[in-house]
Amino acid sequence: MEELIIESYGKVNLALDILYKRDDGYHEISSIMQRINLKDKLIFKDRKEGIIIESNDQRVPRDFTNLVHKAWKTLREITGINRGIHIYIEKNIPIAAGLAGGSSNGAATLQALNTLWDLRLSDRELMDIGVGLGADIPFCIMGGTALAQGIGERLKGISPFSNRHILLCNPDIEISTKYAYSKVDPNGKRLNIEKIIRCIESGDTRCVAENMENKMEIPIIKEYPIIQDIKDTMIKNGALGAIMSGSGPTVFGIFQCEDDIIKAERELSKQFKRVYICKTL
Ligand code: ATP
Repeated sequence: MEELIIESYGKVNLALDILYKRDDGYHEISSIMQRINLKDKLIFKDRKEGIIIESNDQRVPRDFTNLVHKAWKTLREITGINRGIHIYIEKNIPIAAGLAGGSSNGAATLQALNTLWDLRLSDRELMDIGVGLGADIPFCIMGGTALAQGIGERLKGISPFSNRHILLCNPDIEISTKYAYSKVDPNGKRLNIEKIIRCIESGDTRCVAENMENKMEIPIIKEYPIIQDIKDTMIKNGALGAIMSGSGPTVFGIFQCEDDIIKAERELSKQFKRVYICKTL
């Protein structure tokens, strides 16, 4: 039986500006997305018919609500290929965390079926299919460092911001993406995304870290002050900057020095189960 293993990476938002709500309910954003090395492992096995989804994590949905299911169903409809699939998801990326774990699994499924079914679709074509499933899927196919506009589907690669030390801390609170968006003031001041792009292009880690910003952070911190506490702990332990990723609740900090990141990890691990030392890719 043919088997394929694909690594499915998470992302953080180095910047996230919410511009306005469109008539179709989606929000126009301007964001800098960055792939990180925190990853799930997906094992695909060809089947004659039907889909079976299994995971080491009980919270991963096994039904049609899983983005891997949506990806499989959509590719079948588009290509007319009538085959099944067995997908095992080894979950390491925290769920509903602002790290695009589900979107990344959906993207990995499009890529896996492209290979298993010998579809020969380009990344561009997979990204166009993916955006219909989830706004973060095109970036999860593209990877690296990118400016994302529109609802996240208009992507422009910027020079790599790879190999930076980042610390993630995911507190045990649930914030729905819809709720997070509803709290943002669309008339608030625009973020200076161009400045952060200039910092990235000049390879200046400190400049990036000090200018990172997320429009959702202030209203979410009002409701969940623990997010501010995590940011403060990171800064106190040497982070050059720390913000919430996406719609949260995960906070990430950028560190220059490995000793500091280890110190911060130790400190946060006293209070939180999900703390990860990572690198940007
Ligand atoms: P994003 O940053 O794209 O908003 P997220 O990191 O906040 O995503 P996900 O981990 O993608 O959030 O999970 C959001 C919801 O999607 C969860 O409530 C979960 O039930 C559902 N979901 C669907 N497919 C998956 C999947 N493969 N892995 C995890 N969650 C999934």
